Amino acid sequence: MISIKLLEEDEKSVKVLLSGTPLAVANAIRRMAMNEVPTMAIEEVLIIENSSSMPSDVLVHRISLIPFISDIDRYVSPEECGCGKRLGCERCAVRFVLRAEAKDEPITVYSGDMVPEEETSVKPVSPRIPIVKIGPGQKIELELYVRVGKGRKHAKWQAAIATLYEPEDGGKDERILYVESIGFLSPRRILLEAAKALEKKVLELENLLQEALQQGV
Ligand SMILES: [Zn+2]
Repeated sequence: MISIKLLEEDEKSVKVLLSGTPLAVANAIRRMAMNEVPTMAIEEVLIIENSSSMPSDVLVHRISLIPFISDIDRYVSPEECGCGKRLGCERCAVRFVLRAEAKDEPITVYSGDMVPEEETSVKPVSPRIPIVKIGPGQKIELELYVRVGKGRKHAKWQAAIATLYEPEDGGKDERILYVESIGFLSPRRILLEAAKALEKKVLELENLLQEALQQGV
């Protein structure tokens, strides 16, 4: 019989004991937690101005790796939205602006300097992530489009690090699943979304199987 017991939970991680769960299924949930849970990160960057000494492509790469506290109930992925707009619409993108200018002293620009252009709970996981240093007289101005994606598409959207191991005094088919959130979503939401993603895969498989059987040999 399958049973699941919550062993530990805090803000960053969750640990559950899976009993009677075949290894393949437990491993599938682990992989879903890393690759298939939707989260939000910067997908498009428009550079209005960059007179810092950091090349624009390096700046874009750095800023794209910042994880955002995600609202996956309100926003959907570009694929699900289907609006087809490169920079998205109100359902599939949150626009942020980042403007900074150094006057007499060099300054460091932080993740917290990004300002959303609408009322939203989506924000960088920490306001203190350094992005770029700019010198006197230098300036940056960027438009940033935060969108829903998955770890499978790019590692910057990876929701969690998840591991599976056998408990020291465990019985047959007993495994511990440990999920550590990167910060986009709560650990328990990641677990639930991983299970949902697995369910979706199984449904897809069922549909494909029905089609194949209908088509015949
Ligand atoms: Zn859209």
